Amino acid sequence: MEVIFNGKNDKINECVKFINELFEGSNSEHVDFWQDITSAPQFDYSKTSSKTISEQIRNCNTNVTIKLYKPWWRFSKANAYVTGKHPNTLFLNKRKLYRSHESIVNTIFHECVHIADYGDDDNKVTFGHGSNASRGKENTAPYWIGKLAGQYFLHQDDDDMEIEKVELDDDLIE
Ligand SMILES: [Zn+2]
Repeated sequence: MEVIFNGKNDKINECVKFINELFEGSNSEHVDFWQDITSAPQFDYSKTSSKTISEQIRNCNTNVTIKLYKPWWRFSKANAYVTGKHPNTLFLNKRKLYRSHESIVNTIFHECVHIADYGDDDNKVTFGHGSNASRGKENTAPYWIGKLAGQYFLHQDDDDMEIEKVELDDDLIE
C-alpha cells in the first residue's frame, strides 16, 4: 500500500512518510512492526488469523489518497473514514488535525487496515470492528494495529541499545 497526500500540511506529510516507510521499509524496526501484528492474539470481530491479516495489509496493492474534509457537523467525533464508493480515498477530518502525530498516524493506519480488508477480492469486512462506537474495541484489528503504528511513530528515535553498566570491583587495579 502507498499513502499519498498532495497537500502542504507538514504534520500530515510527516505521518504519511512514516506510514509508507512501515509499508516499504526493510530495517529491523519495520520487520518488527509486521511481526508484532503476526504474533498478536486473535483479534475480536474476526475469524481471520493475525498472521493472515498482517500479510494481507502488507501485501495490499491499493494506493490511497488522503483528502481532507470538513464535517458539516462541527462536533463530529469521526477522525477519518473510508467508503466502498471511493475505495482509493481516505477522508481525514480537517477539524481534528490539532492532534499529535502519533494520534494521526494511528488514525490513518486504522483506515489503511479497513482499506486492506475491504479492498481484497471479496469486498467484505472480515477484520473490522462492528459499529462505529469505539468503546471496548481495543482488540479489533483496526484499533489495535492503528495504535501499534502510533506507538512505532512515538518511539522511532529511541535508542534501543542498552548500555551495559560495568561495575568494577573495588580492589581491581589496572
Ligand atoms: Zn474503523
